[in-house]
Amino acid sequence: MIKRFKTKKIYVGDVAVGGDAPVSVQSMTYSKTRDVDATVEQIKRLHFAGCDIVRVAVPDYEDARALKAIKEQIKLPLIADIHFNYRLALIASEVVDCIRINPGNIGEKSRVKEVVKACQNRNIPIRIGVNSGSLEEQFDNKYGPTPKAMVESALYNIKYLEDLGFTDIKISLKASDVARTVEAYRALRPLVEYPFHLGVTEAGTLFHSTIKSSIALGTLLLEGIGDTMRVSITGELEEEINVARAILKDSGVVKSGVNIISCPTCGRIEANLVEAVARVEEKIGHIKAPLNVSVMGCVVNAIGEAKHADVAIAFGKGQGLIMRKGEVIAKLKEELLVDRFLQEVEDAAIEFEKEYR
Ligand code: SF4
Repeated sequence: MIKRFKTKKIYVGDVAVGGDAPVSVQSMTYSKTRDVDATVEQIKRLHFAGCDIVRVAVPDYEDARALKAIKEQIKLPLIADIHFNYRLALIASEVVDCIRINPGNIGEKSRVKEVVKACQNRNIPIRIGVNSGSLEEQFDNKYGPTPKAMVESALYNIKYLEDLGFTDIKISLKASDVARTVEAYRALRPLVEYPFHLGVTEAGTLFHSTIKSSIALGTLLLEGIGDTMRVSITGELEEEINVARAILKDSGVVKSGVNIISCPTCGRIEANLVEAVARVEEKIGHIKAPLNVSVMGCVVNAIGEAKHADVAIAFGKGQGLIMRKGEVIAKLKEELLVDRFLQEVEDAAIEFEKEYR
């Protein structure tokens, strides 16, 4: 049972972050934000893939001015990602649902004050985004790009906002490797009550980012740390959402969707299991009921696994068994097995919905 750290609940648009809110999934577009059509198209793709909150980069005035037209065409809460230029933050704050900016990077306190006032007027939060690669000089010089420096930077930026009476804050502490990321979040967690945005920055391609993000975010989530998250991938938008959702599901943070147990195969295999599992995976993505299903290549371990599975399939020579909760309900020819299995999974999902929802 995962016990989440108690954090303050804030809102990014209509999505709650922190408190008892479910861990939300974020991503970021890679179009030039000033290209409104391309950005809206990417945001819609992310929405369709299951993203909860989207962030766009705002490096210039043209990008800031495009935010209004983007916001009018999307349903996802929108975050503007801004570095250094407080005027961009002022323009963005009139439109978006959250600003990502580090107050310590803005310069004069009067400028930070203006940004804070603008966010207060619209009741929108600020994400303090600490990144090991762009720490303030005073921390980088003293500690190098270490978890200690990241935590000090976060506390410095938090204090900056708190001194101005602003506490609608969420925080990220991203490094490009697992160890520093985990250490930084762990170190800051007992010191503040603000919600955390989890992520490993510049995590690489789909393969490497999936591994790094699964270890780092999985570890933190299992320790009850994390309120919203982004898996950053050098790749396509949907991949970030798919991996993030899988981390939430497979870590047990989210009890939703079908968990597939499938054997790794060995010399005893009696069927094309890779093909069968791929087909099962493709057909059950829409099911929200938290079911366990097992797909096994022979009967050696299949009966044992089937006892803990809502629906199970065990391949044999030219035929196989279908089981529900460990009970054999059908013995069928191989070519009929997967179809019957899928039907049983659909039925089990309907039964679950009737019983528990
Ligand atoms: S279930 Fe059978 S085929 Fe699959 S790994 Fe175990 S022994 Fe091998």
